Amino acid sequence: LALGLLSAPGAGVRGQGAPSPVAQTFDQPIAGARSPRNANYTLDATLDVARRRVTGRGRIRWRNISGNTTADLRLHLYWNAWRDGNSSWMRERALAGAPVERDDDTRGAIDLESLRVRRADEAGGAWHDVLPGARFLAPDDGNVLDRTLLGVDLPEPLAPGETLEIDVAWASQVPPTVARTGYRGTYYFIAHWFPKVGVLEDRGWAAHQFHAATEFYADFGVYDVRLTVPSTFVVGASGAEITRTPGPDGTTTHHYRGEDLHDFAWAASPDFVERRETFSSPGLPPVEMRLLLQPDHGGQAARYFAAMAAALRSQGEWFLPYAYDRITIVDPAFGSRTGGMEYPMLITAGTRWWQPEASGELEDVTVHEAMHQLWQGVVASNEVEHAWMDEGLATYTTARILEEAFPPAHPVVRLFGGFVPIPIRAVTLRRETDGNRLPGYRLAPDRDVPAAPTFRAWPTTAGIVSYNKTALWLHTLERYVGWDVVRQTLRTYAERWRFRHPYPEDFFAVATEVAGRDLSWFFDQVYRSARIFDYGVQTFASSPVDVAAARASEAAARPAGPYRTVVVVRRFGEGVFPVEVVTTFDDGDSATEQWTGAEPWTAYEYVRDARAASVAVDPRHVLLLDVNRTNNTMTVAPRAPEAATAWSLRWLVWLQDLLLTYGLLA
Ligand SMILES: [Zn+2]
Repeated sequence: LALGLLSAPGAGVRGQGAPSPVAQTFDQPIAGARSPRNANYTLDATLDVARRRVTGRGRIRWRNISGNTTADLRLHLYWNAWRDGNSSWMRERALAGAPVERDDDTRGAIDLESLRVRRADEAGGAWHDVLPGARFLAPDDGNVLDRTLLGVDLPEPLAPGETLEIDVAWASQVPPTVARTGYRGTYYFIAHWFPKVGVLEDRGWAAHQFHAATEFYADFGVYDVRLTVPSTFVVGASGAEITRTPGPDGTTTHHYRGEDLHDFAWAASPDFVERRETFSSPGLPPVEMRLLLQPDHGGQAARYFAAMAAALRSQGEWFLPYAYDRITIVDPAFGSRTGGMEYPMLITAGTRWWQPEASGELEDVTVHEAMHQLWQGVVASNEVEHAWMDEGLATYTTARILEEAFPPAHPVVRLFGGFVPIPIRAVTLRRETDGNRLPGYRLAPDRDVPAAPTFRAWPTTAGIVSYNKTALWLHTLERYVGWDVVRQTLRTYAERWRFRHPYPEDFFAVATEVAGRDLSWFFDQVYRSARIFDYGVQTFASSPVDVAAARASEAAARPAGPYRTVVVVRRFGEGVFPVEVVTTFDDGDSATEQWTGAEPWTAYEYVRDARAASVAVDPRHVLLLDVNRTNNTMTVAPRAPEAATAWSLRWLVWLQDLLLTYGLLA
């Protein structure tokens, strides 16, 4: 294949957070279906475990749902991210300080063996071989050596509403697990594994190269997939298994089918132990939960099912019922690093042989990925450009579910190479801080602006913007406008955008509509800026109004009032948010002020018989984005040693947060 740059670099890439000029309608469902069903895949793949290869043939029926005629097609070939060190994925990993060193024979790759197209209305007509003219594109970074996005010129332009048939054959090298894909021993997790059509929006192609810190974006369709694997293997996949047919050569073909999905992933291993339970809850449709466990994790099946059930229940009661009749939970092989990932109707969770319930880790990862069934699987935002729309909503809603459905968790320190977990019971993980990952956010609150495309964010801290900051501002909004408003916002957003592709401005429009007030000042700051929020007490003092009289009364051992108290509070960051200022006096009375927070500082003056004892800014912790809470309160006699102990304990929680942020979840 010829390598080449896109003729106009950047074409087809949407601008940074550019507002939608008109409400987009390209992703409306077709009659009789829940989604547009414009990207339909009939695939037939074989896993060769001896050679660690997947070979496949497929027929893709792709309909142009955009408002524009297209002269070309874009195909993702994700596994080429690992074929050598020159891919943008590998370069970004190296930039982030985590290069992946691989021998030539352990690299992943995908090669097209044939690629033909014809218009669907010419069924029975001649196929056009488009492989010779295909070339790799690098719209994001101009990297001519990247082979993850293929541009294909069509023999003739495809008008809106017209359907293209694509006939493709490919062969892939399965890598040792990398980026939640590959093999470890006899365990296989196979994701983003077939040639996949990009999304053609009204704005043009939203098809990017594969990046180290971002995920995926695809149209909905019907997946009809036959997977041929050794007969000793247990298979789990998106969709529902229809038939299982033994072959002549010790293999079995598993036929799966799923409707209104935008992706299809599968796992296979001879070691999986299969468990099933049915989720049922009044008013919600039942869901068959299928768990594929590692053999030494049998004791944790009940925890997996309980976590999934909690997520399905809250998802259904608060937002929308889970959209399908079954879900598969894959418990990944130890050390495979394939845990914590979401695909339609299938998640990978993760646990360990010794995983104390007190840690809440299994519950966190399972609920998080289950919430992605809604915030990614059904409400299919562009994860490459706007990762916060799925990761942030999943993190925020997961923290709320964990708080409501499970006992408080504790941070865990692992000793002896990580095998022996010690829960620190003196510290309880809290939703506001730990569930929303405040400590991680504090490490890099201003590294990137969330409105910029996620794939352009600094690779090591992109997650802090997508997960932590979004969860924190959503929870701040909850504390500001109330849970009912936030819940109704998320529900309306989900109802309006299910099986569609919302943009960020669509979410903000729903929030403003449901809240019944303009919230753009808030979104401008938390989404369109990297401003830091930090309010605090600068100083306060009480002194007698009449000094001479006070001296006289002190000499006579009488109360020395009245006092004039001056309180100065300050905005230390650029972020503006209205905060409460509460001054407490030593007679137990208090005075509460509402400060707009707009000025760099403000002062309050009180004349009372009592002296001020303490001052607190935002004492109810509405502004969870405040990066430094140690300056939010000031007392006459600070209790420093006690505070130091509390802070060193919190350090352990930070560690926990880091591990969760970088190690477990996607
Ligand atoms: Zn996630």
